Amino acid sequence: MAENISDVKEVKIKALDAFLKEFGEEATHCVCAPGRVNVIGEHTDYNEGFVLPMALPMVTVIAGKPNGTNICTIISASSAVTSVSKAEFDISEPAAIKPGEPKWANYVKGCIVNFTNSLPGFNAVVISTVPVGAGLSSSAALEVATYTFLEAITGQVANPVEKAISCQKAEHDFAGVPCGIMDQFISVMGQDGHALLLDCRDKSVIQIHMENLKDHLFLITNSNSPHKLSSSAYRDRRDACFEAAKMLGKNSLRDVSLEDIKTLEKQGASKVTINRVRHVLNENLRTQAAMKALQAGDYKRLGELMNESHDSLRDNYEVSSPELDTLVNTARSVDGVLGSRLTGAGFGGCTITLLKEECISKVISKIKDTYTGKATFYMAKPSAGARRLDCHR
Ligand code: ADP
Ligand code: MG
Repeated sequence: MAENISDVKEVKIKALDAFLKEFGEEATHCVCAPGRVNVIGEHTDYNEGFVLPMALPMVTVIAGKPNGTNICTIISASSAVTSVSKAEFDISEPAAIKPGEPKWANYVKGCIVNFTNSLPGFNAVVISTVPVGAGLSSSAALEVATYTFLEAITGQVANPVEKAISCQKAEHDFAGVPCGIMDQFISVMGQDGHALLLDCRDKSVIQIHMENLKDHLFLITNSNSPHKLSSSAYRDRRDACFEAAKMLGKNSLRDVSLEDIKTLEKQGASKVTINRVRHVLNENLRTQAAMKALQAGDYKRLGELMNESHDSLRDNYEVSSPELDTLVNTARSVDGVLGSRLTGAGFGGCTITLLKEECISKVISKIKDTYTGKATFYMAKPSAGARRLDCHR
């Protein structure tokens, strides 16, 4: 069956126990922030388009306590880190904090440097149930949990948009990953039972209530083939989109319509560029249509849109992989599956499948029989965003 995701309380208790064991006293502050899955809207974020993620029940928890010094000591008790699990650094001069080893602590350091108020030194333990490097954004969960922890120990609560942008900047500047804004937005703003439509241009959001999911579920399948979107493949696609917008005299593909493709053809744009543009323009339309389908409880339509999204990512954007195609095709071959697509940047990572509850075991066993790699499964129940937790066991 799908992997049993420990409930937030269970992870919190593990973090509180680990803190007590490591530092010899009880933690005074505890927070969590979720990973996410994108239902639809892929490679649209950097083109100022739409994305439609939901927050997951898997979370990163931080338990800690100010220590009355200028030193931060942070332990990651997660399988994310194997050899070095302890990070220690001086925060008396935030501007002097630089990225370094261990690498995982760079996400934490970046958030500390971007935090607007002065901070006390603290001890903390990080534990996560978000699978690392699977495309479910354990990185944003770590950043947003860190920022939420800093809010908790200072009592200074940021505006959610500023908070998300500050966490994104931490990933850009301290981890060297030029990510979009989706992951941090949904980890900050997720609401229980809702997906989120995010307009990456003006950063406005619409919470989409999913109470009428009825007997439908979203199943995440991790291909466990790392999502190695080589930076050059990513850059090539970004550049093709930016170049096409420029050829049309527009700021971004958000201002381009399907009609403009004829102009691009006349201007001599390559077939590859036209295909990239076609994907982005149609994906934006699909994402908005998906919001309407979700609001109406029209899961058949949502499934069709998810299928079209995958096919376009495979054929026009060329970011699928044989592993992802196998997972998607196998899922689609089972009665009761309404749609299946790769989710995240592609070339590995996870798929998301919309299905009728009654066929979930069949889908999982068929994938286990067909897929030559080792797949793992998670239920994507739409969950709450980052929040403070009490320190009770
Ligand atoms: P994804 O965000 O899809 O999981 P990334 O490569 O963006 O993949 O981020 C994974 C990295 O984030 C890890 O290699 C590690 O450095 C860091 N990370 C995430 N969660 C934790 C954690 N709980 N403890 C330590 N590091 C973590
Ligand atoms: Mg990430």
